[in-house]
Amino acid sequence: MIDLFLNNKPELNLYDKSVIEDNGDVFFMIRDGFRNFLIIQSGTGALGFDSFHGEILGIGDAEFMKCPLSANNAVALRGRFSFTRPVLIGKQNSYGLGDRLGNAGAAHLKAIRKTNFRPVLAQQSIRELQRTGRTAQEVIDAATWAVFREGYREGFGADGDHLKTTDDIDLMVKAGYTMFTIDPSEYVKNEAISMSKGELDIELMKLPWDDIDDKLITFKDRYIGLEAELADGFVLAPTDQEIVAGMVKYGRVISHTKKLADYLRTTYPEHPAELELSVDETDQPTTLFEHYLIASELNRINVELVSLAPRFSGDFEKGIDFKGDLKQFKKEYRQHLAIAEKFGGYKLSIHSGSDKFSVYEAVGSLNRGAVHVKTAGTSYLEALRTVAKAEPSLFREILDYSKSRFETDKKTYHISCDLNKVPDGNELSDHDLENLLDDDDARQVLHVTFGSVLNGSEREKNRFKERLMECLNVCEQLYEKNLEIHFDRHLFSFN
Ligand SMILES: [Zn+2]
Repeated sequence: MIDLFLNNKPELNLYDKSVIEDNGDVFFMIRDGFRNFLIIQSGTGALGFDSFHGEILGIGDAEFMKCPLSANNAVALRGRFSFTRPVLIGKQNSYGLGDRLGNAGAAHLKAIRKTNFRPVLAQQSIRELQRTGRTAQEVIDAATWAVFREGYREGFGADGDHLKTTDDIDLMVKAGYTMFTIDPSEYVKNEAISMSKGELDIELMKLPWDDIDDKLITFKDRYIGLEAELADGFVLAPTDQEIVAGMVKYGRVISHTKKLADYLRTTYPEHPAELELSVDETDQPTTLFEHYLIASELNRINVELVSLAPRFSGDFEKGIDFKGDLKQFKKEYRQHLAIAEKFGGYKLSIHSGSDKFSVYEAVGSLNRGAVHVKTAGTSYLEALRTVAKAEPSLFREILDYSKSRFETDKKTYHISCDLNKVPDGNELSDHDLENLLDDDDARQVLHVTFGSVLNGSEREKNRFKERLMECLNVCEQLYEKNLEIHFDRHLFSFN
């Protein structure tokens, strides 16, 4: 049947991994010109696919339905094939594959299926939705089409990243996300580390003890004099000062996390959900006792985590490798792991995880525990690498525009690049343009300005987004090859 369809139109390309038969009906994806379509052929001869919308084509005796990759058809596909719906990933190695342009998922899957990592394909924070001008639903739909096209049936996760409020949770549940990353950073009291003992005692009393089913006195009973024995002979024996400062710093983080976790559980009891807690966006690295305290308290009040993102020491800047003492990182990581093992064996989650090749090697060499890594911007940079090769003039324009936006756009990012070291487009030969994607300064300038390039004013948007998407569409093979090579490097570094 597929042959009949293809022979009729020799200019079409079949995505052969997509072919699936279900109750006598055949589904597959093709590329027609520069657009992809879902094709359905009904085994019963009657195209009664009410939920799918498309054009009916009669070829020979057979009828086919040619469906655009629309939101409506994505819903219909998820209704028909469970593997196109996000699922829970649990405490096994996983990789967050943020895809800001919505066209990288298939290449991500090509890389991930060579490994034992599970993909979290739709990974979307609220702030990034604003920057890309996409909806939470569009991000899920892109993942649905990617797993269908690649015939990836092992299950993928979808991460509502850096959620701060119950409204954020509502939005992500509605769109079908299954992983919920709670970001309580607004409740961290960073000042605690410089408070006097008297100030700390006052703050400690003011904590919302009722909200975490506790009292100050029972809290002190649990922690004062604690000597926690963890794996590898690692003993955690915090001082009284550390205990009090830790709780003042994180007490409201614990209560806010419980509030959001309870909200999710009670408002959507049927919705599959797993929780990550991210405390990576704090002023100081998370100490081992702070991690222990958060994990132990959440465990006590029955908030179960699938992963936790501490802020590790050393620098995790955007788009480039780790900077810092790798030996120290490895030692601390092992101790963080020992804490995670004590409280349920949740995964340690590495945020700003793009391009941290030396960290992957360090984590992989421990050969212990499970890890989750979050990446996003690095796929956008591979898109730009593709444009640099395929359409140098467009890349030069994007480069110059990104440079002009840098001072404004860099504000919320952890980076250290020097704008003056990034040449203008017209200073570089076509060949040098591609190499720019291997230069740390240029990578960071291009990384932090993606929101402006994709979603600037109307005029700017027309200037870049459509042309960028068109270029990647025309050069699909080159783009996907670049992504696959790049993610092979990310994933194989763990071995
Ligand atoms: Zn983060």
